Amino acid sequence: MNRQTLPMIEVRGSPYERGKQQGEKARPQIQKALAGYRETIPQALKMTWEEAAREARKFLPYGEEAFPDFVLELEGIAEGGGVSFEDVWSLNCYEGLVDTRQQVWGCTSLAVRDDQTADGHVLLAHNEDWSSVDRGNVYLVCAEPDGGPSFIGMTYGPLLVNIGFNAEGIGVTINSAHSTDGRVGVPRILYSRAILQARTIGEAIAACVPKLRAGGYSYLVADSNGELYNVEASATTHDIMYGRDGWLIHTNHYLSPKMQDLEEPDVHIGSIIRFHRAERLLRSRLGQVTKGCLQGVLQDHINWPYSICMHEDPARPPHQRGLTLASLVMDLTEHTIQVAAGPPCQAEYVTYCL
Ligand SMILES: [Zn+2]
Repeated sequence: MNRQTLPMIEVRGSPYERGKQQGEKARPQIQKALAGYRETIPQALKMTWEEAAREARKFLPYGEEAFPDFVLELEGIAEGGGVSFEDVWSLNCYEGLVDTRQQVWGCTSLAVRDDQTADGHVLLAHNEDWSSVDRGNVYLVCAEPDGGPSFIGMTYGPLLVNIGFNAEGIGVTINSAHSTDGRVGVPRILYSRAILQARTIGEAIAACVPKLRAGGYSYLVADSNGELYNVEASATTHDIMYGRDGWLIHTNHYLSPKMQDLEEPDVHIGSIIRFHRAERLLRSRLGQVTKGCLQGVLQDHINWPYSICMHEDPARPPHQRGLTLASLVMDLTEHTIQVAAGPPCQAEYVTYCL
């Protein structure tokens, strides 16, 4: 097993100050990400880096209107990272620019309520599957924003932190969704960041679906009371599902019939297989789920290499390769997160406490 851990960066203060500290401390990851995407964007986006930056600029007024503090945070990341704001902004708009149908990878998320776990804790687990370009660019951020709440989350390169939990016991994971109504608007990563400052489950759900959004994720949102919600969003509409049986799973296809009407027709089969596999493994342990059980689900290799624990497919061109970059098990009751740096079949989980 690989004992390598992800870097943990601590930031505090105002949005700009926190961004600047993130930029300074993650400068190697930020500069490596920008260099990597400069190489792959022409194939992945079918446009030059400059054209991508021009497209991304159209999203900026929407971001400034909806979340001015996050734009300041990104300005700080650019300053601290020694890179241009335009480059940082472009990568934060990436999912609004790319045709996500060509992505054969995808994340898997699970949430389990306290009455279904062995120790009565609420657990939230996630495999972060993304482009191989970002291998080595992933890190954790422990943040103490002015006015709170503090949070721990994962991100990579110059992106805003977008998966994690906060001191109010609110946790979020996101899964890419593929809808036909994408448009210029508020980049989706800004509102996944917004969930981390929610103080109630209601604020967290509202943060998933701001006005004038460019697109949407599927958000698995949970709190330490055991309230579990799956919010499936696209640019123009959304649906909210409640975890009434004490668990929820999501991969990369919509579960809501309302959202399925907007889904791209050729969503990859791997997402459906990962969903059913996670469901089968979780159902066999309901009532006695532990963090170890969830680690086991996240290490599963059925349909390898497009399994829950995803590995690179060398038959694919480099810009279409992906893998599990990080694997996370959050305990919203005791405010801890277990993190494996890379495919969890190869990396040990390390525990961090908020
Ligand atoms: Zn594996």
